[in-house]
Amino acid sequence: MRVAVCLILVSVLLSISFADEHITIVHAGALLAVPGEAPKARQTITIEGNRITAVDDGFVDPANMDGEVTIIDLSDKFVLPGLMDMHVHLLSELGPNTRTDALQVTTSMQALQGALHAKRTLHAGFTTVRDLGGKPEAIYALRDAIDQGVVPGPRILAAGSSIAATGGHGDVDGFKAELLTLWTPDTICDGPYDCRHATRYAIKYGADWIKITATGGVLSDTATGTDQQMTDDELREIMKTAHSLGVKVAAHAHGTNGINAALKAGVDSIDHGTFLDDESIKLFKRTGAYLVPTLLPGHKVPATMEGNPFFTDAIKAKARAAAAASKASFGKAYKGGVKIAFGTDSGVTRHGANAEEFALMVDGGMSEMEAIRSATVVAAELIEMSDSLGTIEPGKLADMIAVDSSPLDDISVLENVRAVIKDGKRQ
Ligand SMILES: [Zn+2]
Repeated sequence: MRVAVCLILVSVLLSISFADEHITIVHAGALLAVPGEAPKARQTITIEGNRITAVDDGFVDPANMDGEVTIIDLSDKFVLPGLMDMHVHLLSELGPNTRTDALQVTTSMQALQGALHAKRTLHAGFTTVRDLGGKPEAIYALRDAIDQGVVPGPRILAAGSSIAATGGHGDVDGFKAELLTLWTPDTICDGPYDCRHATRYAIKYGADWIKITATGGVLSDTATGTDQQMTDDELREIMKTAHSLGVKVAAHAHGTNGINAALKAGVDSIDHGTFLDDESIKLFKRTGAYLVPTLLPGHKVPATMEGNPFFTDAIKAKARAAAAASKASFGKAYKGGVKIAFGTDSGVTRHGANAEEFALMVDGGMSEMEAIRSATVVAAELIEMSDSLGTIEPGKLADMIAVDSSPLDDISVLENVRAVIKDGKRQ
């Protein structure tokens, strides 16, 4: 008897909560609900609140539905899941003043500029991003403000500042000593115990992911190359510490030995992967780590270097070498069966131009379908959100975009997104 009463109570509560959810239906001219499977013509997606509750053949007539229903008419569009970029830096955008910006732009101003970049990223069709490196206080505030509906933007998984070695990529450079001391990040570490502390510290203050700079970087103003900078014992300790706290690790890595050392230590994603080799491919496959290739900077940056005072001789030399290698490494990894998740390093390039990465991936030998999978299904796997993101299916969050024609025929249509729906709301 008591069980029956409880069941009635539960069903009453459930019906109340569903009755409260606003219903939206989307009429899609063509729908790629699950990237990897064929698209279907004339589909209706039903959304209650922020979740998809049904995907049906044909255009369902809202007159046949209970309650007030909002219709989003995309009957002349091609609809696919919201795109996901696994490597952005929302707080900044590289320009001639980047070096002096470090002295002049406040943390609050960075957050506000980040809000503008976030809005551009969202309107370009990217409904989820992983932000791998920025002032912790500003990026966490931006992440939370978007979650609370204070400002528009993609869902952000944020790493805050990178765990990096003293004098390595991720540390500050290019100024006299007194100034460098002023803004050295709290996550610079040397030796396994120090790096264990830095990892715990980053998580304590709000990191969703740990970002490490395993090798030198192209844009740091030092002639220290792009090889391994964090030692094997530091890498192992960071992975162990982060994983024990349920947090995954992304490694910025260009040079071969740094890529392979991070993979051996158990990293979850290698970002850039510029000079990977056959051993790297074997390690990727053995460990299940993902490659986030970021081809855009190599494609765009070298042409902008002349006359821009940011690009010192040390940076120019590294940028040219990295640009020459990145596409070949991408093709090799793809052919070798490495899991590839979409990422752009936007912030180095313009925010909102993220989708230009797709054409570079296709040019590098990937099929259009696989390129779309990398920014949907595969990205969702990397961030362990496949239960909520990556496809348009009942139970998932209602994130989707629309373009004029099929990106399976011409991937560049993704550079002109016509409609964005995030959490069931048109943006
Ligand atoms: Zn980056």
